[in-house]
Amino acid sequence: MTDTQLTPLTSEQSEIQRMAHEFARNELAPYSAAWDRDSYFEPSLVGRLGGLGFLGMMLPEAYDGLALDTLTYLLALEEIAAADASAAVLMSVHNSLPTQMLLRFGSEAQRARWLPPMARGELLGAFALSEPDAGSDAASLRTQAVRDGDDWVLDGTKAWVTSGSHAGVILAMARTDTADARKGGRGISAFIITPDLPGFKVGKKENKLGLRASPTVQLTFDQMRVPADRLLGEQGLGFAYAMQSLENGRLGIAAQAVGIARRALELATQYASERKQFGAPIHDFQAIQFKLADMATRVTAARGSCALMTVRLPRASTAAVNMIFIRAV
Ligand SMILES: Cc1cc2nc3c(=O)[nH]c(=O)nc-3n(C[C@H](O)[C@H](O)[C@H](O)COP(=O)(O)OP(=O)(O)OC[C@H]3O[C@@H](n4cnc5c(N)ncnc54)[C@H](O)[C@@H]3O)c2cc1C
Repeated sequence: MTDTQLTPLTSEQSEIQRMAHEFARNELAPYSAAWDRDSYFEPSLVGRLGGLGFLGMMLPEAYDGLALDTLTYLLALEEIAAADASAAVLMSVHNSLPTQMLLRFGSEAQRARWLPPMARGELLGAFALSEPDAGSDAASLRTQAVRDGDDWVLDGTKAWVTSGSHAGVILAMARTDTADARKGGRGISAFIITPDLPGFKVGKKENKLGLRASPTVQLTFDQMRVPADRLLGEQGLGFAYAMQSLENGRLGIAAQAVGIARRALELATQYASERKQFGAPIHDFQAIQFKLADMATRVTAARGSCALMTVRLPRASTAAVNMIFIRAV
């Protein structure tokens, strides 16, 4: 646990941080190396994280969330990441992307239907924006949605979807403009997808160098019929919704990186005190002390940057969505 916050933590923040630390130490750390080696996703994690409230950290209590601020969420995420980066990416994506998109831009009926089970850990959330040919340039995505009666029919392939093979609800972006009238980012809408929809298929799972216990998969939508009430917010605003949620998502991934770096520092410090050369633990040698000091400085600076960014995070508003369009389109 850390004592290097910029400002003193509130008692609530300390308590949440302690809970996350205990959970991570007892229920993740003993298994995380084996899960990572075997690319094993432990399904019970979702319910256990949900039981602690860690899958609805920033959701209002009305939707069974903990109604906590972003900083408290990042503190918990750092603790989880220090023990198991894969569990942290699951928690980060779920809290930052699908739940926030539903909360900010969903109708009351959509929020009431999807958010409480997501907060309780009964439904894992995923976010499907990227495609094999649309990574950084996400607005060039090609998955197409065509209105047909009361449904939308979606066709296309999504790539690198975190938790996509185990998610109960996926916020997926698809084009709702037409081939002869392309509108860039403004031609993209967001849909609430569930794996029971006919035409939904889980495709290739990536064989990654790290985060191996977090399944990163392709999803294929093959003439997948999606009821019209699964359109999120307004038609044509899905890309802006996704971009705004990603602002939050990037902070989660940054806190995850801080947790990983902190654990590396802890292990390096421990090793330097155990390893003896020339009759002394190597942490007695100044060159090693400099290295550990540099690592500690960088971890502290990174944590401070995360904390600072929480006060600069744009709030959901029409103005913020418009700003995203100005930047992205
Ligand atoms: C572990 C993991 C989990 C992921 N989870 C999800 C998820 O849940 N949902 C989802 O939708 N996506 C997910 N992604 C996809 C992720 O968002 C993309 O990897 C990311 O958008 C970058 O796209 P790309 O990998 O295709 O890289 P590319 O866009 O092909 O970029 C390749 C390189 O070129 C650089 N580059 C690209 N454009 C420019 C430019 N204009 N100027 C300078 N340099 C440039 C990039 O910085 C990068 O170094 C995940 C990826 C990973 C690795």
